[in-house]
Amino acid sequence: MQHCAPTPTPEIDHAALKVKYLAERDKRLRPEGQAQYLATEDGFEDYYDADPYTPAAPRAPMSADIGVAVLGGGFAGLIVAARLKRAGVADCRIIELGGDFGGVWYWNRYPGIQVDTDSYCYLPLLEEVGYMPTEKYASGRECYEHAQRIGRHFGLYGDAILSTKVESLEWDAGLRRWRIGTNRGDDLRARFVVMAQGPFNKPKLPGVPGIGDFEGHMFHSARWDYAYTGGDMTGGMDRLADKRVAIIGTGATGIGVIPHLARAARHLYVFQRTPSYIDRRGNSRTDPDWVRTLKPGWQKERQRNFHTAAFEAFAPGQPDLVCDGWTEVSRNLQAHLDATDGWAAMADPKKFMELREIQDYRAMQRQRDRIDAIVEDPVTAEALKPYYRFLCKRPGFSDDYLPAFNRPNVTLVDVSGTKGVERITAKGLIARGDEHEVDCIVFASGFEITTDLDRRLGIAPFTGRDGLSLYDHWAGGYRTLHGLTSHGFPNLFWTGFIQGGVTASTTAMFEQQAAHIAYIVSEARTRGATAVEPTAEAQEGWCQTVRETAVDNTAFQRECTPGYYNSEGEQRIRSHLGEPYWPGFYAMEDVLQAWRDTGDLEGLVLDA
Ligand code: NAP
Repeated sequence: MQHCAPTPTPEIDHAALKVKYLAERDKRLRPEGQAQYLATEDGFEDYYDADPYTPAAPRAPMSADIGVAVLGGGFAGLIVAARLKRAGVADCRIIELGGDFGGVWYWNRYPGIQVDTDSYCYLPLLEEVGYMPTEKYASGRECYEHAQRIGRHFGLYGDAILSTKVESLEWDAGLRRWRIGTNRGDDLRARFVVMAQGPFNKPKLPGVPGIGDFEGHMFHSARWDYAYTGGDMTGGMDRLADKRVAIIGTGATGIGVIPHLARAARHLYVFQRTPSYIDRRGNSRTDPDWVRTLKPGWQKERQRNFHTAAFEAFAPGQPDLVCDGWTEVSRNLQAHLDATDGWAAMADPKKFMELREIQDYRAMQRQRDRIDAIVEDPVTAEALKPYYRFLCKRPGFSDDYLPAFNRPNVTLVDVSGTKGVERITAKGLIARGDEHEVDCIVFASGFEITTDLDRRLGIAPFTGRDGLSLYDHWAGGYRTLHGLTSHGFPNLFWTGFIQGGVTASTTAMFEQQAAHIAYIVSEARTRGATAVEPTAEAQEGWCQTVRETAVDNTAFQRECTPGYYNSEGEQRIRSHLGEPYWPGFYAMEDVLQAWRDTGDLEGLVLDA
């Protein structure tokens, strides 16, 4: 791998930009916050339930006792199941809505889909399954195939329950099992349940008035309708040649899709409320010479290096192994400290944050200058510029996105001033008073990520011991031990962003959680227990630890333009990272390892 040089960034007027950032935020804030979005239950059930890739085959309801039911067959569920198998828990079964494993990579098949973070960090268990991604940023197909590879490698296909939606979860105290209700009328009784639904599982729709009136074709990007568009994940949507297409959404998905729609459609209208940060993609094939240099443990080392860039700061001389837009601010800060002999400032957290902020502003200015250099029409270029701090929104990466706006068949419709598309009619969309007639609307409008948990999960009832509703138990915030188990919910484990360590590679987080869950389940079994649950004291103790060690970054989030990262600017910010254990992901690893090392299962009760 080549040395990663700092990126030259321009001088900025920090104070003036700060004012501009706040004005741009205010332009977009909506009092309804997250309530502005429609759930699929609001008349769009098929946008979630229907599987266009593997239509669900009819089957008789099942009645079965299951050792461990893992709910979700994306990377989270696959990693948990793999770790359970390795820990000797053979009777675990994945239950999954889709017709195959893959999760987001199963559902999202839009043209241009590609992972946005370094594949060598992101794709899990590479060394274990003996696979090397073919590119630095693997295609969606390669990610999906990797999920299938993990499924095969660990023998997870045989007893998986696919094309099945979990609708209810109820603890049966008599049986000491979870009763799992599904859309197939099944009666599944699981001793243990692991929630592995992932953060991006459920699409949401923009709450634009009149959305139900449109008489043309509409679909969500997470259920791409190739029967309508033609083509496949690589593009070639020949059936759009005579179509006027609108897309709502310019987040990570929109960035992937828009260049392909621009090439294929007769005319493309991009309705943009907030511009994304768009850095170059700069993808590259995996270099076999580099692969030959890798030593066992290389993936974990790389993930840790990425974590340092994203959540901490590089030390003097520390290499930037990932070397892309995600790591730019840390890389440039390191170069600045070298050049100014300024490393002493790093001992003061406030000074560190100030220095980091300057690099952040400069990096964002580099993006805005890049837009001026690529986009020919100055009005369009200005509308495409992101005025907010790095990581206020999910950054995007594409070599084709900005040039698409130079095409004569592409119109950027800036709807920032009206806080979104004003209305959808039978024939098209109204923005700034003008109706744009279209044949098709693509919703690249994202997912239920930080909306209310019941809406996100779509599981009701969800009740633990004594009929305790999970939604009531967590109404005031998460309450768990280690972000994994909760009092009143025996034998139930969580993965994802709840109350644990967070890192730049989501899949590394799943691995950390999976190892701990597998340990507890196998220990409980070895000790002959049928139920395991944290005490109320242990749960409250962990909540207190999380609160006491928390770093308050709400000031940063409040200054951000609205989006799911800051609960659309709502007063109560619910982070997409949950309530992280701020001492860090690797500190969390130490906490969990030390806990396991004692062998005491401290804070858990068996067979209470
Ligand atoms: P998203 O980031 O939530 O973007 C939703 C888009 O819809 C935003 O541009 C939003 O505008 C727009 N929108 C919503 N309501 C609107 C309205 N009424 N009028 C006009 N525009 C409206 O969704 P996403 O792009 O699907 O991405 C979700 C997450 O999935 C990403 O952040 C990322 O974590 C993950 N993802 C990853 C990859 C990858 O790795 N390659 C690809 C895709 C997605 P505002 O910005 O103004 O709210």
